[in-house]
Amino acid sequence: MDFRDTASQAVWRGEVRQFLKQELPQELTGQFFTRAPQATKPLWDKWRGALASRGWVAPAWPAEYGGAGLSPMEQFILNEEFAEHRAPNVGGLGVMMLGPTLIAAGTEEQKRQHIPRILDGSVQWCQGYSEPGSGSDLASLQTRAVRDGDDFVINGQKIWTSLAHIADWMFCLARTDPDAPKHRGITYFLFDMKTPGITVRPLVNMAGGHDFNEVFFEDVRVPSKNIIGEVNRGWYVGTTTLDFERSSIGNSIGSRQVVERNLVWFREHRAEVAPTDYEAVRLQWVDRWIEVQAATLLAYRIISMQAAGQIPNYESSIAKLFNTELIQRTAKTGAKMMGLWGDIIDERAPMKGMNAYRYVDQVRETLAGGTSEIQRNIIATRGLGLPRA
Ligand SMILES: Cc1cc2nc3c(=O)[nH]c(=O)nc-3n(C[C@H](O)[C@H](O)[C@H](O)COP(=O)(O)OP(=O)(O)OC[C@H]3O[C@@H](n4cnc5c(N)ncnc54)[C@H](O)[C@@H]3O)c2cc1C
Repeated sequence: MDFRDTASQAVWRGEVRQFLKQELPQELTGQFFTRAPQATKPLWDKWRGALASRGWVAPAWPAEYGGAGLSPMEQFILNEEFAEHRAPNVGGLGVMMLGPTLIAAGTEEQKRQHIPRILDGSVQWCQGYSEPGSGSDLASLQTRAVRDGDDFVINGQKIWTSLAHIADWMFCLARTDPDAPKHRGITYFLFDMKTPGITVRPLVNMAGGHDFNEVFFEDVRVPSKNIIGEVNRGWYVGTTTLDFERSSIGNSIGSRQVVERNLVWFREHRAEVAPTDYEAVRLQWVDRWIEVQAATLLAYRIISMQAAGQIPNYESSIAKLFNTELIQRTAKTGAKMMGLWGDIIDERAPMKGMNAYRYVDQVRETLAGGTSEIQRNIIATRGLGLPRA
């Protein structure tokens, strides 16, 4: 198997690298864009402008909508280089989820209203899907939307809504026909988070971070022109996406970088590792290193399918499952290596407490975007042809 670039891929990779060398502000490497703090806003604006000039805010979107219309392999190489250079994306959920949905199913008016604001970053989006009783079984959601003249009136609750506290708008699934089979009575709404009747309450995770929230709706009035697709057909709209980047190459590169940082520390500080743990830690890093290679190969498998015009299915679940569990094993090995420091999240700890932080923070990885159990079910049924549980 030859993983080297073809001549044209090498040219493209060189172009992406050159761009990153010239345009990526060092201060932004490894950062995650939410709402730019005032101090770094000019840098974010400059970075966004550089990306936008090439359609790279949304590289997977067609060029007519402000994307770059890249082929799967071009996207893969771009994502690989961005991950290697720890270059941040700026589009958030607007680029990843809503934009592709609008392009596929939105009206011209909806596209004109929202797409430019996703690309220029003036509107940040959050995703109102999960509810207290409906996560893995999302189609059982209970938030109700009832027609009232030209509007719908929404009542109910969402949970785990990432960045709802800073988002400007929400794309949201609500039940419009409680008597229909569960997938057929759901509608896809868009609304401004400042609409009267919306309350956002923070949920602080066990690492002390505030990323997600509970969101409550009390008689929230949404005009029917803010529905994407047809009433009661929202489930099918919600599962639409044009984003071809499913290889999770960025994640496997991220895993490798974390393992590499730990290996550097281990080599330089071997005397600080408890003698009783030393051999176990040494061998665990060997396992993590092998697993990182496996994660990369799983990502390569997906892109090779896409490049051949096939649509990965359970293969994406394998990559997601393997890499997210690897992230957690890596955090565990890192925390063990640190001994008692592995329990302390503090700038003064070795590696600034990175491993202790990751040990609690990365629990999220095997939940978000479909839990490990759900991925295993997909692999069991679609991949292995096993009967349902
Ligand atoms: C970091 C993070 C960010 C998130 N951001 C958002 C967001 O922005 N918007 C949003 O709408 N949601 C968001 N979520 C929610 C996420 O989609 C749900 O947490 C996820 O779908 C799981 O649903 P749940 O938490 O209700 O767990 P449940 O579905 O209640 O599952 C509980 C446990 O039961 C297991 N289980 C459930 N069903 C089965 C089954 N059929 N077979 C075997 N085991 C099963 C699960 O694997 C899990 O271990 C986020 C979650 C996280 C962790």
